[in-house]
Amino acid sequence: MNGRVVFIGAGPGAADLITLRGARLLATADVVLFDALTDPALRDFAPGARWVHVGKRGFSASTGQATINALLVKHASEVDVVVRLKGGDPSVFGRLEEELEALADAGIECEIVPGVTAAIAAAAATQRPLTRRGHGRSVSLTTAMTRTGAVHASHTADTEVFYMAGKQLCALSRRLIESGWPSDSPACAVSRAGWPDQLHSDHTIATLPRASLLHAGRPTIVTVGAGARALRATAQRNPIDASETCAEPLKP
Ligand code: SAH
Repeated sequence: MNGRVVFIGAGPGAADLITLRGARLLATADVVLFDALTDPALRDFAPGARWVHVGKRGFSASTGQATINALLVKHASEVDVVVRLKGGDPSVFGRLEEELEALADAGIECEIVPGVTAAIAAAAATQRPLTRRGHGRSVSLTTAMTRTGAVHASHTADTEVFYMAGKQLCALSRRLIESGWPSDSPACAVSRAGWPDQLHSDHTIATLPRASLLHAGRPTIVTVGAGARALRATAQRNPIDASETCAEPLKP
């Protein structure tokens, strides 16, 4: 008889950004398969569970997706409740479809608990609403990094939020301009949003590469367009000015 798998969005950072439902279900776990970007303090919610790290960062050394799928199926056949704890929201750039399909193929029951995705955490960190009445009617979530390493950018929404952009800010800036964004459009970079050491810096699309050094090695969200503009009330606050430039070549 199989157990079940509960996918839980841990939120973007500090453990208290998990939802109440997520915390309650986490407490029922026998086994927790957790990601690199989740807070170790979440262990306090399920101290008796077996915690298995299956972290992934970018496309570097990590537990392969096939291994994660196999681990989910294996553990679900051995215990009652397996929690798959994912950073942010499980449905946003979390390879959720592959894991759901593997479990469906094995006839294992699943539930998904949503979490606060990084785009929303970055908006909160900077007090920049993602939608703006009258001129910010649409928001798009895009991964800046494709499987081939090519950088992807677009101009399809009033506010564009780019995940996995940290290493690619020079290329992203150029691609955004090629996609039709005016080079003086606002761009805001936020790293480790929701953590006590979160950082943000303000730029235009043309000066976005200057954010590279400040946010190096940290999970980073880049917001462009309407939702990146500082509010009048908060514009006085002086965000960090990352004055280093980036000389990375544009990847094909
Ligand atoms: N499922 C996650 C996203 C996973 S992809 C979510 O919903 O947030 C990993 C990317 O998310 C990172 O490369 C980074 O771009 C972004 N990210 C995750 N946590 C972040 C944080 N606390 N601050 C800024 N960006 C973050």
